[in-house]
Amino acid sequence: MIQQAPVMRICISCKKTFDRKNLLKITKDHKQGIMFQKGMGRSAYICKTKKCFSDSKIKKKLQKALKTSLKPQFIDIFEQEIASYNDYSN
Ligand SMILES: [Zn+2]
Repeated sequence: MIQQAPVMRICISCKKTFDRKNLLKITKDHKQGIMFQKGMGRSAYICKTKKCFSDSKIKKKLQKALKTSLKPQFIDIFEQEIASYNDYSN
């Protein structure tokens, strides 16, 4: 069996490189707007650490990375999404 090389992406908060499957992907979908872990379009990645999730500038960084303005409701949805990663330690 050939092990497939992991796809590496950079966290927009800490700028460290991670295996893509360990990151939360936020995509500005062409048709459906902002989506998590799916969608087609410009994407940004955040590593699943409290430090990056609770970054006070995360919204600004995302807006810059996605080249879009995020609605205030986005943060609510974002926080719900983060809550589902509570079991991730480190
Ligand atoms: Zn990070």
